[in-house]
Amino acid sequence: MASKGIAILGSTGSIGCNTLRVVESLGEQFRVVALGAGCNVEKLAEQIRRHEPHVVSVETEHYARELAELLRAQETKAPAIRVGEAGLIEVATSAGVEIVVSAIVGAIGLVPTLAALKKGKRVALANKETLVMAGELVTRVARENGAELLPVDSEHNAIHQCLRGEKREEVRRLVLTASGGPFRSKTPREMEEATVEDAMRHPTWTMGAKITIDSATLMNKGLEVIEAHWLFGFEGEEIDVLVHPESVVHSMIELVDGSIIAQMGVTDMRHAIQYALTYPERQPSTIPPLDLARLSVLNFEAPDRKRFPCLDLAYRALRAGGTLPACLNAANEVAVEAFLENRICLTDIPRIVDRVMRTHETRSAICDLGVILEADREARATARSEIERLEVGEPARV
Ligand code: MG
Repeated sequence: MASKGIAILGSTGSIGCNTLRVVESLGEQFRVVALGAGCNVEKLAEQIRRHEPHVVSVETEHYARELAELLRAQETKAPAIRVGEAGLIEVATSAGVEIVVSAIVGAIGLVPTLAALKKGKRVALANKETLVMAGELVTRVARENGAELLPVDSEHNAIHQCLRGEKREEVRRLVLTASGGPFRSKTPREMEEATVEDAMRHPTWTMGAKITIDSATLMNKGLEVIEAHWLFGFEGEEIDVLVHPESVVHSMIELVDGSIIAQMGVTDMRHAIQYALTYPERQPSTIPPLDLARLSVLNFEAPDRKRFPCLDLAYRALRAGGTLPACLNAANEVAVEAFLENRICLTDIPRIVDRVMRTHETRSAICDLGVILEADREARATARSEIERLEVGEPARV
C-alpha cells in the first residue's frame, strides 16, 4: 500500500504534535509532506529533522530566517520555507498531500482550509472556528469538490462514529457532552474573580490556551453546537448540551425510538486523529483502552445557562445565521486574548461578546468569503473598543 501524504496546519500545537505521534505509530502508511506552524521554530526544526517534509511555513520572514539558521546549525536539510497565509495555503495544497489536518487555532485557519477543500483533499478538521465563521461556504466547497470533511474535535468525532449506518430521519437529536470546565461548581463571585491560572486548570483535557479558556466559559461548547450544525445538518433545537464531568462519553445521538448511542473512550486526542486519518477503516491503536470498572461512576447534569451565558450566545448566533456566528467567534477571540493578558475578568468575556453581537448588522451573504472576513474584522474592532471602555471604566455603548 502506497503511503498517504499528510499536511498539518498548526503542527507545533497540541493537535499537531499528537497528529505526528499518530503518524509515527501507524508506521509506513502515512508520510508527512508539509507542515505549517506559527512562531515556535525550535519545535518545528525538531519536527523537520524527524519527518523531513518538503515544505514548511512560519508566521513571518523573521521566523523563516530563524528557522533556516537553526536548521543550518543542526545540519538538517532545510525544506522549502514559506511565510504567512500564502505559506499556509501552499502547505495545504502542495503536491503529494492527500490529507490535511487543519489544527490552527482561530480564524486564520479558514483560508488555507478552504484551499485544501477546493483541491478535493480530505480535511481532518480540528479548527472549529472554520465552521463557525463560514460553515455554509466550507461545507459547500467540500461538496462541490468531492472533499471529505472529518471532524477531529472529540465530540464531533464521537457523533460521526455514532451516526455511521443510521438514517438521518431516524435520528432525533445530537447530544454534545461538556466537561463543565474548572468553574462547574463555582459561585458567580468566584468566577468573577477567577485568575488566568484558575481558568487554565481544565479538569480532564490538556489543550492550548484559547480552547481551555473557551472550555471554562462554555463558549467552546457553544462553538461546537454551531460546528455540529454544519457537519451533520441538524438545527440548533436538535442539538443539546449535557455536562459530563468525567469526559468519558465523548458525545451521543438519540434516535426516534428513544434509543441513545454514545461513543466512549479515554481523553486522548490521538484516538479522534487516528479515526480521521484512517476512516473508513479502523486500526489498532497504542492508546490504552478505557477501564470502565475502575471508573465505576459516570455523572451527567444540565448546563447552568445563567452562569455560562456563552452557550446561549452561540445558540442565538446559530439561529440568526448569516455573519452573526463569525461575529461571535471574532469577538470571543479578542476577549479571550484580553483575559489571558489580565486586561479583563473571565465574566467580561460573555459581556463583550454580547455587546459586539448587539451592534453587529447581520448580513446574509455568507457564501462570500469577503463578507465573512469583513464581519470578522469589524467585530474584532468593536470588541477591542469595548475592552478599552471596560479598562477605563466607561459605561458600555449598548
Ligand atoms: Mg471538543
